[in-house]
Amino acid sequence: MKHVILGNGPAGVIAAETIRKNAPADDIVLIGDEPGPPYSRMAIPGLIAGNISEAGTQLRRANDHFARLHIAQVFGRAVHVSTRTRTVKMEDGRVIDFDKLLIATGASPRAPLIHGIESPGVHACWTLQDARAIMALAQPGARVILVGAGFIGCIVMEALAARGVNLVIVEKRDRMLPNMMGKGAGDMIQRWCEKNGVKVLSSTRVTSVDGMAAGSPMAVRLSNGMDLHADLVVYSAGTTPNVGFLRGSGIRCLQGVVVDASMQTNVPGVYAAGDCAEAFDSVNCRSVISGVQPNAADQAYCAALNMTGRNAFQRGLRQIDVFDTMGLISSSFGQWQGVRGGQWVEIADESHFRYMRLEFSQDVLIGCNTVGVTEHAGILRGFIQHHVHLGEWKDLLLQDPTRLKEAYRECVQQEFVYQASPFHMPGTAAPSAMHESV
Ligand SMILES: Cc1cc2nc3c(=O)[nH]c(=O)nc-3n(C[C@H](O)[C@H](O)[C@H](O)COP(=O)(O)OP(=O)(O)OC[C@H]3O[C@@H](n4cnc5c(N)ncnc54)[C@H](O)[C@@H]3O)c2cc1C
Repeated sequence: MKHVILGNGPAGVIAAETIRKNAPADDIVLIGDEPGPPYSRMAIPGLIAGNISEAGTQLRRANDHFARLHIAQVFGRAVHVSTRTRTVKMEDGRVIDFDKLLIATGASPRAPLIHGIESPGVHACWTLQDARAIMALAQPGARVILVGAGFIGCIVMEALAARGVNLVIVEKRDRMLPNMMGKGAGDMIQRWCEKNGVKVLSSTRVTSVDGMAAGSPMAVRLSNGMDLHADLVVYSAGTTPNVGFLRGSGIRCLQGVVVDASMQTNVPGVYAAGDCAEAFDSVNCRSVISGVQPNAADQAYCAALNMTGRNAFQRGLRQIDVFDTMGLISSSFGQWQGVRGGQWVEIADESHFRYMRLEFSQDVLIGCNTVGVTEHAGILRGFIQHHVHLGEWKDLLLQDPTRLKEAYRECVQQEFVYQASPFHMPGTAAPSAMHESV
């Protein structure tokens, strides 16, 4: 049996190792189009901040790791898949045949529509190559503009700030972390960043970048009429799954490659995992592209088990729900935006950067945002995940949301709390250490 894996990020690497563990005699080919050993994008902020070296971003440290596992590594870009002949065509003309195929090609950063976005001095923060270019320009005191204050943008912001640059973050929505936080929480995080030396411009767009002659700064125009000078512009404005090469293959794609709970596509024997996969999330009842590494790892593990004839499936996705912004911990669980007809309560202690907003539907806590409040994280997650009926405690919490511990004691002891796990494989134990090491 020959397994071909397209993409050698975390999903591809875990899949290759899992296949090897479960099918010692099978052939495995791991294909990647970035030079150098497989690495983790998640480690890039640590590299930029100067906390780790480039070697520290590698997914596996030993030089002979893949050779020892008899995993053949191929460098190159796949440009077409034929499900009829079961072959992958590479950019350099090579044709690689497969019995089972895993598509783990990840995603690429989306460049925002800004005049002059291709100027030298403007970079995404996605690859090691981007990181090298950013580090060269982000010297102490350099003027840096970061476009986008979403989940990855905020991680990049912290790394840039650690380099001692003069940082302005520009976000077109009305708050930071707009896909995770409501206005109250997002505004508090913004004030925290500003207190820590980062200028934040929300409800603002970068409209143009004028790359000037070498040695002089770029002129950056904003939608609020401001003109700024910048030595570096970094953008973090969303991603697009790398699935374009599957056009005409018969493999069904919406935004990403559509998979079932076993991570198999509509073509038998062809699977997808990670940032390129669009899976049905039974917890949220919609098909989603997860975009975070723990889910890429879970999905790859699940796909690889199925590729080797096991019977595994994914139940749901892990959400990134607890977040550290320059030392301020915030969280976002469940339906934090609330629901029509629901009730909510909000408390804030502006001077101590503490905030909590709880959202209810009938007598169930369905979502929340917290900032600077870490002591209730387990309780909040438990209530929300297990749909605990709070009865009279709903009204008590609406009056005083800090009584969460009491509510937990009173309500949860009467409930059957079900140990939810995003991963389930009938008749087996939890994923192995190999998977956990990523
Ligand atoms: C700066 C940054 C910080 C992040 N921080 C976090 C974090 O804190 N927590 C978290 O959970 N997630 C984080 N993420 C997201 C996380 O890195 C991704 O979810 C994860 O990398 C997905 O893994 P993957 O294997 O699916 O895709 P990738 O890691 O993108 O790997 C896919 C590989 O396939 C290659 N490829 C693509 N197309 C082809 C082709 N046609 N032929 C051959 N090879 C191809 C790509 O070049 C790439 O090497 C961060 C991402 C970035 C950029």
